[in-house]
Amino acid sequence: MLRIDGLSAWYGEAQALREVSLQVDEGEIVTLVGRNGAGKTTLLRCLMGLHKDAKGTIEFLGGDVTGLGPHKRARRGLGYVPDDRGIFATLSVEENLTLPPVARPDDDREAWSLERVYETFPRLRERRRFPGTKLSGGEQQMLALARVLRTGARLLLCDEPTEGLSPLIVQQIGDILREVKAAGVTVLLIEQNVHFAATVADRHHLLAEGRVVESLDNDEVLAREGELLEYLGI
Ligand code: ATP
Repeated sequence: MLRIDGLSAWYGEAQALREVSLQVDEGEIVTLVGRNGAGKTTLLRCLMGLHKDAKGTIEFLGGDVTGLGPHKRARRGLGYVPDDRGIFATLSVEENLTLPPVARPDDDREAWSLERVYETFPRLRERRRFPGTKLSGGEQQMLALARVLRTGARLLLCDEPTEGLSPLIVQQIGDILREVKAAGVTVLLIEQNVHFAATVADRHHLLAEGRVVESLDNDEVLAREGELLEYLGI
């Protein structure tokens, strides 16, 4: 579904990504793990077309998207859920879900209807008149994911959806990601909670200093959990 080849990125003189190559298959949940500053957020921003100073190629659903801007990538089915969640704090849940920008898919796939969002996230239906500011961290995260699903995204690029959330809410986010996967949506997510990552995802890539240094399956992550946590400084 997604193939990244030789992706490098810079901030001025400083190189943040170094020849990253990796692949995500349709229907998978794949995580990016790495210390602060390893380049994870930069990688997601490059995939969405938000970081310009980059080279390498990005293919999505068989087409080269490297030269396309964020809107065109969204119409092809890429969806970015930033770490600040990107929701409108003063607007209600329902306004967040109905206001533009809701990208129009450029093929015949369907963007999620409001009804489908509420079926998948009953909590958002209950909270539909609440402003973003009155939502818990977990509810905000649900809303952020739902907003992107409303664009018809087929691959979600999620920047640390569990950051700062309590263990119970983290579990709920796990259930949501599994539901999203069951609905046929593919997910690439940044995740520092390696135990959680191994329970929700299929494969993992460890980034260090802008490079993919290791690729691991769930058994390998669980077997090396202590070592990974120490390495990540958690
Ligand atoms: P974190 O979890 O802390 O965001 P990360 O793995 O997502 O870490 P990035 O945010 O992608 O890492 O940062 C990669 C490198 O690029 C780091 O060295 C960082 O200092 C640098 N960097 C990130 N954003 C900028 C910026 N706006 N200007 C200059 N350098 C930046």
